[in-house]
Amino acid sequence: EMDKAASECTPESMDSEDMLFMLYTSGSTGKPKGIVHTQAGYLLYAALTHKYVFDYQQGDVFGCVADIGWITGHSYVVYGPLCNGATSVLFESTPVYPDPGRYWEMVQRLKINQFYGAPTAIRLLLNYGEEWVKKYDRSSLKTLGSVGEPINNEAWQWFYHVVGEGRCTLVDTWWQTETGGICIAPRPSEEKAEIIPAMAMRPFFGIVPVLMDENGKVIEGNDVSGALCIAQPWPGMARTIYGDHQRFVDAYFKAYPGYYFTGDGAYRTKKGYYQITGRMDDVINISGHRLGTAEIEDAMADHPEVPETAVIGYPHKIKGEGAFAFIVLKEQTAHIDRVKEELKNIVAYKIAKYAVPDHILVVKRLPKTRSGKIMRRLLRKVVTEQSSNMGDVTTLDDPSVVKEILDAYQKYKEK
Ligand code: AMP
Repeated sequence: EMDKAASECTPESMDSEDMLFMLYTSGSTGKPKGIVHTQAGYLLYAALTHKYVFDYQQGDVFGCVADIGWITGHSYVVYGPLCNGATSVLFESTPVYPDPGRYWEMVQRLKINQFYGAPTAIRLLLNYGEEWVKKYDRSSLKTLGSVGEPINNEAWQWFYHVVGEGRCTLVDTWWQTETGGICIAPRPSEEKAEIIPAMAMRPFFGIVPVLMDENGKVIEGNDVSGALCIAQPWPGMARTIYGDHQRFVDAYFKAYPGYYFTGDGAYRTKKGYYQITGRMDDVINISGHRLGTAEIEDAMADHPEVPETAVIGYPHKIKGEGAFAFIVLKEQTAHIDRVKEELKNIVAYKIAKYAVPDHILVVKRLPKTRSGKIMRRLLRKVVTEQSSNMGDVTTLDDPSVVKEILDAYQKYKEK
């Protein structure tokens, strides 16, 4: 195939606003959104953030181990580094193959200067112990980066002290498929400015974060929490949802008119730094893969013996969040283990292996409001063992369902 191809490829002139690529990401309705990025603004933003957040210097070897097919791989394996003339590492494996020293062997062999990865991998690796890291020379490392989900303190400390030997800058970078590049990260900043563990902290050039209250008002001052919005456009922002511009407007600009709504919540500390608190809707983040719970439900709905399902996210030590599925069987006599196996296969086939629920619990019925909406909030309370504080259940069509589900969960746990 290589022989058949020409050795030169004439570049095509494009308009700054022509489409560059489209990436599908999840919404809360279960129908994925084709996020569209365009040429010039995206490239500028990827290049600038790559240079300034990671302190990339000419000649550095940049190692982003994200999947190239996801936005992090697009912006920080391909577009940002190559625009800056960097040497970019292409990684195609898992952090534990052939052994848990894989990343660090690669750092030593390729003399990687910046290492950018996901908290889920760090949480996995810290279980294998420090010897796998210390076996290799990591003196080339200058900056470490984390992306995709909140990094917990334990993982941050391990990354910083064990991998970075306490001498590398560690940046927790917050951004989204829609933002094109990093929006909040500890760097750039004044030289040697403080970095607080497990916090994204400072907005990038041109990013104006604001927090909104439930009534759509901007929350002023510090030591406050709210819905994270961005107050003015920036070059890397998505331009539309492919084939459905109205959905783009509705999803991101309707909740708080005049502002871009990220879907995430955030806390502004006493010193004015930003800490991301997580998604505000029914979207879960499994090992850095954002997924609508409705997508998993939609997939499982294909099973002929399972008329109803409800999926929720719950905290998972390694994956960040995991999926927990509640299902209702058509016939109580159905062979439960077989049905569960089939459901797992359907989800793996229709979405991906990482989306397969860790737990599937059979219940007689789901908690529903009188208008027929499943109250996932209650299911979340059951699974996170906060059932003593169920909150308002007056809109349930039959409140006795709560006890029913609690009993089923208790039995499941004992088993
Ligand atoms: P995606 O568009 O698939 O990259 O997912 C973006 C979502 O991942 C954000 O809206 C956040 O919920 C989450 N996320 C990404 N980076 C971080 C971070 N550094 N801290 C906390 N959450 C993050």
